[in-house]
Amino acid sequence: MHLDKNHLRRQLRQARKSLTGYRRDRQQQRIRHFLTAIPQVRHARRIAAYLPFDGEPDLLPFMRRVESKIWLPMIRSDWHLDFRPTCKLNALARRPINARRNRFGILESQRLPILRSAQMDVILMPLVGFDHHGNRLGMGAGFYDRSLVGLRRPRPALIGIAFDCQQTASVPVDPWDVPLDYIVTNRGIIKTNHNQARKPE
Ligand code: ADP
Ligand code: MG
Repeated sequence: MHLDKNHLRRQLRQARKSLTGYRRDRQQQRIRHFLTAIPQVRHARRIAAYLPFDGEPDLLPFMRRVESKIWLPMIRSDWHLDFRPTCKLNALARRPINARRNRFGILESQRLPILRSAQMDVILMPLVGFDHHGNRLGMGAGFYDRSLVGLRRPRPALIGIAFDCQQTASVPVDPWDVPLDYIVTNRGIIKTNHNQARKPE
């Protein structure tokens, strides 16, 4: 484990959390706007998204518009992610009976069926930090890295979602780190040289 990863995490989580009020609302709106301009997102049948946690950008207005396409991550006991359909997202944010907080306090859908990452067309990932090469720094558990190992082409488009204050010159990379195809921020869409995503149908 990189010590410098942990140092960066502390710094960038703080930056993400300190973005508040009107500035946060405006930047989130811009992120959602740019996100819907990506062809793979527009044409996707299954989109893995997330419920915002620890100051992550809030995609709920977008997720509600395309609710039938949205899948939410669940953490398996082996620390891989699978994906479940949403319960009604309005209700989910208020914690209905069929959603449950996992061991990290994140709400999870309890609905069936359960699908693997390979069955998604697009995977929207929150992140703590990123660089322009598409390297992603997560919260430090490696959930996405573990779940994206061995994906074969055509594979889902891997899209990081971030505020521009989360960008750093260079994220330390370990051998297991899976890079992103795109990063969507309030400033626009960064297409990285890792882009090998499924072509829109
Ligand atoms: P994050 O991606 O959340 O920033 P790291 O990349 O530092 O976190 O990974 C955290 C831990 O997850 C690593 O110490 C590593 O042991 C584990 N990990 C990540 N990917 C895999 C994998 N493919 N197989 C097994 N363990 C993994
Ligand atoms: Mg990683």
